[in-house]
Amino acid sequence: MIHDIEPRIFYNHFENKKPEMKDLFLSYEGDTVLVKEDKDKLWYPSFADFEAGYPRLIDDAKFLFTVDDINYYLIDEKGLDTADGWTYVPTTRFRTEVKYWRSFAGSVGWQLNRWYGSHRFCSKCGKPLKHSDKERMLYCASCGFQTYPTISPCVIVAVYDGERLLLAKYAGRENTRYGLIAGFTEIGESLEQTVHREVKEEVGLKVKNLKFYKSQPWPFTDTILAGFFAELDGDDTITLDEEELSVGVWMNRDEIAPEELKISLTGEMIEAFRTGTVKL
Ligand SMILES: [Zn+2]
Repeated sequence: MIHDIEPRIFYNHFENKKPEMKDLFLSYEGDTVLVKEDKDKLWYPSFADFEAGYPRLIDDAKFLFTVDDINYYLIDEKGLDTADGWTYVPTTRFRTEVKYWRSFAGSVGWQLNRWYGSHRFCSKCGKPLKHSDKERMLYCASCGFQTYPTISPCVIVAVYDGERLLLAKYAGRENTRYGLIAGFTEIGESLEQTVHREVKEEVGLKVKNLKFYKSQPWPFTDTILAGFFAELDGDDTITLDEEELSVGVWMNRDEIAPEELKISLTGEMIEAFRTGTVKL
């Protein structure tokens, strides 16, 4: 999965430190990120790469996180693709980068960039928010309001019945790959209750014997995903919520196509069922 970057280590501890020329920075314009693509890999710029043309970049950089001993910073400067070889590419590119530590760093940076961008003012009193020096937090000096990066819990559910797995496609998405039932946890709800509710709402089925599989941070949608396998309980007739799903089918284990890029928890769970590596 995209966050499985071993032997590299993602270290998210916040420090109020200043960049050095060798450190990398992330620059986003909307849903694009500044990179150099070489030998099918994404490369992020260092401050040294832009020192000649943009000597002030280093002054306003915000520390993000570290991967091994490489520090990543966020900068607000746009239009840096005038420099030779550097270009803004869609952040969907993170989903096809085989070196997960590069795509994970880029996508977590993108999540933080969106969060900083949408939390510029206090939601209680309207004054500009300030950056804490001590933690990854924004605060209002006027009324004391504090806010932390948004992380929404969400479940992924692999509903199975013997050798069959329930696969679905989401309505209105270009992605034509099969996925699993998924949905956000609502106020006052446990993850298990979310599983039962989402399966009922999206395909009209009842499930039992919930088994937690793994979790995954999913920076693309500001979520933490909790993956469950759940056994069909009773009638197997699928009643599709057509606002959510365009397809919902039972597929036998041996009919499921292999997953090549196991970036997502969904992909890993489908593959674990297909290959029989998960004990149910
Ligand atoms: Zn305030």
